[in-house]
Parts: sequence; structure tokens; C-alpha cells
Amino acid sequence: MIYKRSSQLFAEAQKVIPGGVNSPVRAFKAVGGEPIFVERAEGAYLFDEDGNKLIDYINSWGPLILGHAHKPVLDAVIERAKKGTSFGTPTEIETKIAELAVKMVPNIDKIRMVNSGTEACMSAVRLARGFTGKEKIIKFAGCYHGHSDSFLIQAGSGAVTFGTPNSPGVTQGTAKDTLLAKYNDLDNVKDLIKANKDKIACIILEPVAGNMGCIPPAEGFLEGLRKVCDEEGILLVFDEVMTGFRLAAGGVQERLKVNADIICFGKVIGGGLPVGAFAARNEIMDYLAPVGPVYQAGTLSGNPLAMAAGLAMLTELHEKPEIFESIEKKTAYLHEGIEKALKANKVEHTINRLGSMISVHFMEEPVTDFDSAAKAASNGKYNKFFHGMLENGIYIAPSAFETWFISDALSYEDLDKTIEAVEKVSREL
Ligand code: PMP
Repeated sequence: MIYKRSSQLFAEAQKVIPGGVNSPVRAFKAVGGEPIFVERAEGAYLFDEDGNKLIDYINSWGPLILGHAHKPVLDAVIERAKKGTSFGTPTEIETKIAELAVKMVPNIDKIRMVNSGTEACMSAVRLARGFTGKEKIIKFAGCYHGHSDSFLIQAGSGAVTFGTPNSPGVTQGTAKDTLLAKYNDLDNVKDLIKANKDKIACIILEPVAGNMGCIPPAEGFLEGLRKVCDEEGILLVFDEVMTGFRLAAGGVQERLKVNADIICFGKVIGGGLPVGAFAARNEIMDYLAPVGPVYQAGTLSGNPLAMAAGLAMLTELHEKPEIFESIEKKTAYLHEGIEKALKANKVEHTINRLGSMISVHFMEEPVTDFDSAAKAASNGKYNKFFHGMLENGIYIAPSAFETWFISDALSYEDLDKTIEAVEKVSREL
């Protein structure tokens, strides 16, 4: 493949944008080489500035469950834009999307819209602190909850890739209130709680982790967290920025039958426009301004274009629940095909998958937490695999610490092409 124009554009971008990108993982630092500049996308495909067509397994990092430029979403945005792009006043469409979200997701009464997953998680933690009157939080090594200060304490995703788990600019004062636990290790959480008795406002986690590759919760882990939170008066916060409206209409709470106290959303709920949200039962949500004392706001929150895209997306998912079954079947097909190809070429691997989230770790041992994910990533095989796949027209996550997201726009022919590419690339691994 030729990436001449992408390379030129990257050189120009670096002169005026730090690192040439507006979000670090896009820069391909983790896998080496230079990023691809996309010109347009449609359905399951990206078309780059050099005219290459790529089968896309990122889908804007998750939200495009129905593929790129999905017509109902596009139509909704275009029609809405004709009426004006932002008013800074309430609009009816905000209530419509809130009603639909509350209908689809179990255990929530109210939802507040923000502009990103970062804002959703940051606001959820403030609300948890305000509601409980306690200051400390527990987060898990390798879970990523956006780039707000409290979370940049050995965070996953780009923060790990760039070797700055404790980013300069995050104060010691902030860091001391974030306690770090090991994912899938309930005893570790209990020890932290014991050592910080009555000081912990919430435990926040990705209930199915996606930012250290895909790591599903071990059996009993989420249930154990629920129990200990109930016993200790701690709020359980599920960061469903990736899993919400993807693993089921009602997210992980529905899929794995464990309830959280506050849920954070992002990505899907904006249909590819900049949206995040957080939701909870009335008693917690009514703690928010203007009703309650916890302040949280946003000039563009509930923006009509973003709400139109999100409403079109959620409406499709609500009215056609077979979509969840379809993406899951496609992911299982891919899983089986990749497994076969890697086995045939004797490549050591572990494939982690839950529903339509999947990742390939190049190590035989189980990958269950950040340490094992880092061990799997350290042999450099993923980076070689990434470039091999790209050369064959397949765009997977440009980092071993990310999940692949399957969209329903992928055809079985696309999946077969992908499996063929895995077979070819794995011969060289
Ligand atoms: N939480 C999770 C689980 C995420 O995956 C992400 C982004 N990848 C975020 C929060 C932050 O979302 P955003 O990038 O929209 O701020």
C-alpha cells in the first residue's frame, strides 16, 4: 500500500498540532510508523487520502455499531442542522433521548448529557463524592476513564503507551485520593477498603475492560464488588463508555446482571458525534445542580446535532434488538477464524472476547489484568501483526492495549478477507 499523501499530511500536521494529532493514540507511536489520514468512510470501510480502502475494526473507537455514515444517523444530523446548531436553551430532543436511554438501561431514572467520556467519568466521581461526603476513589490499573486528573494514575490506553502513567501536571494532592487496585482481584480491593475505612466514595471500573485490550471480568468479580460496596456504603460506578449500548441494549448491567449506582456512557450515545452521559437513580441524580448541590455544566451539553445523531442511533438499537445478536455472531465467527489461523501457524496467543469486543494478545497465558496484558504486549508481536494486517487492507487497533470493535456493517466476506489476512500475516510472526 502507498501512504504518500498521508505521510505529507502528517508532516504538515506536526508543524501546527502537537505530535500531529488531537488524541495521542492516533499517532501510531505504539506500533511505529505514521498514521493514516482518512478522507471519508462508508459502512465497514475507511478510504484514506491515498485512495486505499481499509476494512475498519475500530469504528471511531466503538460508537459506530452500524458502520460509518449510517443513513438514518446522517439524515437526522442534516435535517437538524438546518434548524440551527446550538441554542444554549433546553430542546425537546434532549428529553426524547433521555427517555429512550432510561427505557433501554436498567436501574437508572435520570441521565445528564455531557460532551465526552472523560467528562462523564469526571462528573460521576464528583457526584459520588458529593453524595457520599467521602473523598477517595478506587480505580483499577489498566482501566481508562478519560484524561481528567484523578484518573491519570497508571491509566490504560494512550497513557500507558506513552509511558506516563503518572502524567506531569497531575498534582500529588489529587493522586493521593485515587487508590489503585488490581483488575479481577477482589481481595486486593477489600484490603484497600480496610486500610481506608469510611473514606472511599466510589469504586469506578470498566465492567468489561477494553483499554488493556479486552479483559472480561472474572466470575464473581463484579458481584463481589457490588456486595462490598453495599456493605461499606461505597457507590459502584460502571464506566460503560465502551460497553454501553454495545454488549446489550442495557449494557453490562443487563448482560451480566449486576447493577451499578452510577453509569457513565460515551461514544454510542452520540452516534459518532461528541457526546458522553452519566446516569443513576433519582436519589443520586437529584444531587446535581440545579436541583442539588453538586455543580456540573456545559455550554454545548445536549447539543441538538449530537442529540439527533444519538437519538437516531439508539432508536435503531432499540427497535432492532437483532443487531446485538448479529454483531455478536460476526465477532464469534471472526474469533474462530483468527484462532484457527494462529493455531495453524503455531503463533502463541490468547483471544479475549465478550460479545462484540475482542482482542488478540500474543501470549499463551491468560490475560486477566494489566500486568498480564503488558507482558503479552512486550514481545512486539502485536506491532508486527498490526502492520501486516494494514498492508493487507485491514485496519485494527494501532496498539496492543486496545480492543477491536465490530460493526454490523461488516459482511461475512469482509470477515473472511480478514481471517485470510491473519493467516498470511501469522506465517511471518
Ligand atoms: N472511559 C472509557 C472506558 C473509554 O474507553 C474512554 C475513551 N476511550 C473514555 C472513558 C474517555 O472518553 P473520551 O475519549 O470520549 O473522553
